Amino acid sequence: MALIVKKFGGSSVGSTEKIINVAKRIIEEKKPGDQIVLVVSAMGDTTDELIELAKGINANPYQYTREMDMLLTTGEQVSIALLTMAFKTLGQKAISLTGAMIGMKTNSVHTKGKIIDIKPSRVKKELERGNIVVVAGFQGTDEKGDPVTLGRGGSDTSAVALAGALKADACEIYTDVDGVYSADPRLIPDARKMKEITYDEMLEMARLGAGVMQPRSVEMGKYFNIPIHVRSTFSSKPGTMIREAYTMEEKDFLIRGVAHDDKVAKIAILGVPNNPGVAHTIFAALSDKNIAVDMIVQSIRNIEKNVTDMVFTVSFDDLPQTRKIIDEVADKLSAVAVLIEEDVAKISIVGAGMLGNPGIATRMFGALSKAECNIDAISTSEISISCLVKKKKLKDAANAIHAEFFPEA
Ligand code: ASP
Ligand code: MG
Repeated sequence: MALIVKKFGGSSVGSTEKIINVAKRIIEEKKPGDQIVLVVSAMGDTTDELIELAKGINANPYQYTREMDMLLTTGEQVSIALLTMAFKTLGQKAISLTGAMIGMKTNSVHTKGKIIDIKPSRVKKELERGNIVVVAGFQGTDEKGDPVTLGRGGSDTSAVALAGALKADACEIYTDVDGVYSADPRLIPDARKMKEITYDEMLEMARLGAGVMQPRSVEMGKYFNIPIHVRSTFSSKPGTMIREAYTMEEKDFLIRGVAHDDKVAKIAILGVPNNPGVAHTIFAALSDKNIAVDMIVQSIRNIEKNVTDMVFTVSFDDLPQTRKIIDEVADKLSAVAVLIEEDVAKISIVGAGMLGNPGIATRMFGALSKAECNIDAISTSEISISCLVKKKKLKDAANAIHAEFFPEA
């Protein structure tokens, strides 16, 4: 007997036909005595459509974060109800539960909530009654009982956290790709499927733009030490295991993947005083509004005048808010100008193998130079290197870098 948490993403439940197919597959693969918890996302592009709907009321609906959560949580409620009806129609006992009903407790940071605690006693009770339990991903409630969503792609996090809280035997993430690739195959046709990847590498890949998994879900997997199996909804082939360490055969690559993110904007605040406290003023204003900043570069602009330029990137989602905040801060600091560039993309390489292997960055810059691609900013972590490039150069840059580290087998 096994307790398995399976998560189905929006594309896997994109139509009633697909929902019925998911239900059929689960029933077919379920072994007697297995306890199954399903975490599902909103159907297809529902979440995007709901956001568009809100924009019909106000161009920047994210300023009303609580109401955004009230709106967005409806998407998942539709899919759990329909999937549960599909099970019942097929003669399988099942029940749908919202985030509140599974005891998913979050903080009160609406639209970017973090899980504080899960008390899934109701889930356990329903499993004991012989139900397949169908849970709304992406949502929980804060101490007031208000709905809070976990950030885009948050159903992954719901699933892994719930698997941890239930001490599940496995957590399977079903999606429209058949595993984790060394790069996005839409951008890099030579990308290859990985059998395994470590939590840390997957985390870095996801943080740097690989869309397969929400980064926080991988953190959650690491925390609970739950191996996560990323696999296809539409085939029964094994996908990619995300776990603490590799088995022997997968150790070969220094670099595990090339990630990219073209939903970033570059902000430059020109001519701010080069004094203690200036960076703090700028970035505190952003972090106060929960805006994450990446790739910070401070350059020497004019030594005599003791002014400097501060350059950083933020994600597109945060751009309208960032614009407002930075204009105010720039005024306060008497900056010369604020430049915002949206025509950029971030390309990154990731691999625990780069620790203790000098020369990896050189090879990346060499590949970019061969592709005649200029680098606007560079940032590094222990297991990744990222370069900011012009958006129109992204595809060439990504393919050149991938070819450098993943030569033809
Ligand atoms: N429906 C939400 C989104 O599209 C959550 C998810 O799909 O994981 O971001
Ligand atoms: Mg989705």
